[in-house]
Amino acid sequence: MKTKEALKIAPPPTPEEKALSPYDIIICRAGTTGCPHAIINPKPIAEKIEILLDELGLGKHIKTKAKGKLLYHMKFKIALAGCPNSCPQPQIKTFGISGQARPIATDSPCVECMKCVEICKEKGAIKIIDARPVFDYGLCVLCDDCAEVCPTESIVIEKKGAKVMANGKLGRHPRLADVIKEFATEDEVCEILKKVAEEYMKPVRSPSE
Ligand code: SF4
Ligand code: SF4
Ligand code: SF4
Repeated sequence: MKTKEALKIAPPPTPEEKALSPYDIIICRAGTTGCPHAIINPKPIAEKIEILLDELGLGKHIKTKAKGKLLYHMKFKIALAGCPNSCPQPQIKTFGISGQARPIATDSPCVECMKCVEICKEKGAIKIIDARPVFDYGLCVLCDDCAEVCPTESIVIEKKGAKVMANGKLGRHPRLADVIKEFATEDEVCEILKKVAEEYMKPVRSPSE
């Protein structure tokens, strides 16, 4: 059984810092106090994101539009989650990510202990057939729990990264975010965010234009 890397712990922003920011960036506890489910650490990504948004002029754009009265609905909302449990709800934010990890079977002999099947919360996502794990990726949510408990490395993680989502919201016309990319690297997360922020800053066209 493999143990996960220790996560860096960093303090969350103070309420005063949050109130003044043109961004509402929520990081799950994988990036603050730590979480045993974490696949990625959202804290370093959050730091890069804030710098990138400032460089793009998004903060200035939002503050100018707010005319000195920055209300919550005016903020650019971001949620960064360390795993598919998605505690900070990236699905309803302007931009969001959740960590994901794809398990695969190896040639290492499976001892049919069934720990992987027992820990999996997605019924049918993993089965043991002829002493070998078989995945249904249509059901698997890519959480990595099965690989974590396998004592023989018959299951390993083939790749991990961030599922990137954009343009989700609540309010008068709620919608779930679109999935823009799976297994994104930090650089790819920033690239996508740049495009989403640039789009966000474009003037809204009236139907007659
Ligand atoms: S999203 Fe996952 S890693 Fe983050 S706090 Fe929730 S369970 Fe832990
Ligand atoms: S990664 Fe998670 S959801 Fe997928 S098979 Fe393993 S335990 Fe089940
Ligand atoms: S794949 Fe690993 S955890 Fe699953 S039954 Fe085989 S040895 Fe046990």
